[in-house]
Amino acid sequence: MNITSSRRGFLGLLGAITGALAAPHKLSAAKSPGPQSAQTESGSGKSGNPYQELGVTTVINAEGTMTMLGGSLIRPEVELVMAQASRHFVSIPELESAAGKRIAQLLKLPVGYSALVTSGAAGAIQSGLAGILTADNESFMHRNPFDHQLRATGVKLIEIETREQLRRAVNERTAMMHFTNFASAAGQIKVDEWAKLAKQYSLPCMNDAAADTPPLSHLWDYSNMGYDLVTFSGGKALRGPQCAGLLIGREELVHYALLNNSPYEDTLGRGQKVGKEEIIGMIKALELYLNEDHDLLTKEWQQRLETVSRQITKVPGVSTSFFTPDIANHVPHMQIVWDAKISLTPQQASQILRSGQHSIVIGTGEDRPGLAMNSFMLQPGEENIIAEQLAKVLREHSA
Ligand SMILES: *Cc1c(COP(=O)(O)O)cnc(C)c1O
Repeated sequence: MNITSSRRGFLGLLGAITGALAAPHKLSAAKSPGPQSAQTESGSGKSGNPYQELGVTTVINAEGTMTMLGGSLIRPEVELVMAQASRHFVSIPELESAAGKRIAQLLKLPVGYSALVTSGAAGAIQSGLAGILTADNESFMHRNPFDHQLRATGVKLIEIETREQLRRAVNERTAMMHFTNFASAAGQIKVDEWAKLAKQYSLPCMNDAAADTPPLSHLWDYSNMGYDLVTFSGGKALRGPQCAGLLIGREELVHYALLNNSPYEDTLGRGQKVGKEEIIGMIKALELYLNEDHDLLTKEWQQRLETVSRQITKVPGVSTSFFTPDIANHVPHMQIVWDAKISLTPQQASQILRSGQHSIVIGTGEDRPGLAMNSFMLQPGEENIIAEQLAKVLREHSA
């Protein structure tokens, strides 16, 4: 699939983008107890739970890294360095540039690649493309301070399915070929071929891989494949700052993206402010993620699911099976189904769990029957609460 841009606004003046797009997709994210940091003596946070103070229910998250539920739970170490970062002033462009170098080192990116900490993967997509359109030409970036937050960008997207459609869609106004990674399996042109085609047409190409770690190697695989820009969400499986993302790519394009981003005023990205704490927090999150034992984690996530499975399959008529999506939330999932002995729809079960004393979020299985859950955003012991509550609900509705 693919994209192009119209001529509205100055971004449009610069031409069209070609890229892979897919249907709006569920954005991932999660929640979790922050580190056990010091409580404040009074005011917000004095109880240790500022959400409760506001009357907002915290939930047990068996759905994964859903932005709607707050992404993921930031690692305690990340919270700590973010606090350290918050105690000094620094030049943000200098910090972004140093952070880009550090991230390129951590990820052993190809020569000539860098990275930018953005307000999220969505922010990475926008500033990455804005940079491709303007390069470092100031006259394309500025008109009046903060003008950009008032104007739509006017980029036109052309979706294509086949190589022939791509050939016909590309012209001198095509700015970029965009790929939506999670749609790779469904599309006719796969992720590696898309990068090759972009080379053939001499166009920059971007891959939106926001939710596509694990596996860890995706953090550099797409750069090595030849993508000029790659985006990742900082607040999903990387468990960095929730409002941060990564734009990884060719040094020059990463530099142009920064020129279109906060802290620079009158830029498209001025509303996507990234703080020093997020930038520092992102580096820390990457360090931790790179040093984690990912096989061990996967085993732990699978065991949590099996704990739930053991308990709920004691209820007659209930069965479970396991699957791992190929891409996006590539972690162990469990599908839960039951027969007619239990008079309850998956939607009803999901609702009852959500409104229970422990508010549990478990989704229905989208394209699969029954309920589907994963366990990578659960806090220790929450799998037992899910097992008990779900078994109870299923039993109560058994004939
Ligand atoms: C989550 C997601 C985004 C947005 O990422 P943020 O970090 O929340 O801005 C973009 N694309 C895809 C495919 C996603 O899953």
